[in-house]
Amino acid sequence: MSPSRRRLVGGLDLGGTKIQAVLLDGRRSVVAQARRPTPQKGGPQDVLEALADALAEVCSEAAVEPRELTGVGIGSPGVIDARRGVVTGARNLPGEGAPIRMTAGLRELAGTRAYVDNDVTVGVWAEYALGAARRSKALLGVWWGTGVGGGIVLGGKPWEGRGAAAELGHVVVKIGGARCTCGRRGCLEAYAGRGSMEIRARQMHRRGHKTDLFKIMEKRGRTRLQSGVWERALAQNDPVAVELIDRAVEALGAGVGSAVNLLDVETVVIGGGLGTRLGEPYVERIREAMMPHLFADDRPPAVRLAALGDLGGAMGAALLVPSTAAARST
Ligand SMILES: [Zn+2]
Repeated sequence: MSPSRRRLVGGLDLGGTKIQAVLLDGRRSVVAQARRPTPQKGGPQDVLEALADALAEVCSEAAVEPRELTGVGIGSPGVIDARRGVVTGARNLPGEGAPIRMTAGLRELAGTRAYVDNDVTVGVWAEYALGAARRSKALLGVWWGTGVGGGIVLGGKPWEGRGAAAELGHVVVKIGGARCTCGRRGCLEAYAGRGSMEIRARQMHRRGHKTDLFKIMEKRGRTRLQSGVWERALAQNDPVAVELIDRAVEALGAGVGSAVNLLDVETVVIGGGLGTRLGEPYVERIREAMMPHLFADDRPPAVRLAALGDLGGAMGAALLVPSTAAARST
C-alpha cells in the first residue's frame, strides 16, 4: 500500500433513489466515484448492504480495499444520532423509518471506521470547505429539492443546535397558510418543496388546469415530478409549472430573507436537486425575491449556486472522517 493510498477516505451520499460514492485523497481531491441505485424494497440491512456495495465499487475503481481506507462518512436522510451512529425516521428508505445502525453496520460489512451525519448538513459543509462558500466564515445552505433543507455554518463550524437546527423548510412564510408535509401550516416547504409542488400540481391538473407536467413525466418513464420534469415544463412555459415555480421562488425569497435577518451570513448557497438543476437563473431569481425582505438591505449576502454539483453530498460525507484536512470540528 502506497502512502497516498493510506490517506484515502470514502464518502457515501444516501438518497432515496441513488447512492453516490466518492474517494478523496489527502489533498481532498476526488480520485474515484461510483453510483448505485438505492434499494426500494427490504429493510435496514438491505440499505447497509447497498452502501457497502457502493463503497466496494468505488474502492475497486482506485484499486484499494475498503478496509484500507482511513474511514468512510455517510450523509443520510432522517434523524441522525451521530454519537451512536444510528439513523431513524428516513421514510424515503426501505424499512419505513426503522432504525439503521449506520456506523456499526458499515464497519461490520466493509471493515472500516464509519461516521454519519445529515445529508444536507454534510452537503452544505462541503460547499464551505471545498465549494461555493470557501472564503466565507458564515453561510446558509438552502437545499431546494423534494423538501427544503437547510444547513448553517457559523464562525467556521456547523451549527446544529440541539440536533435539529437549520430546518429552513419549516420556517413560516405565511401564517395559517398551505398545509405542509410536516402537518403544520404556512411552512416554506409547503410552497417550495418539490413534494408539495407535485401535490398542488396534481390538484390543479384534476381541476382542469392545462399542463404538460404529467405528460413529460410519463414520457420519461417516471411516476413522480422529478427536477428534470419541472425543468422541461418551464422551458416550454407550461402555465402550471410557471405558476408553481413562481410561488416557490417568492416563498424562498421570504424564507431565506428572514433567515438572513436572523443570522447575517456572508453567503447563501443554493443547492439540492431542484436548485442544482434549475441553476444560475433561479439563484438570481431567489436573490431578487429575497431583497425586499432584508432588513440590512444595503449589504446583502452573496447568493451563489452550489459548486460541487451531484458529488457535493458524498464529498461532504467523506469530510466527516477525522483525518481529513478539512474534517469538521464539531
Ligand atoms: Zn413544515
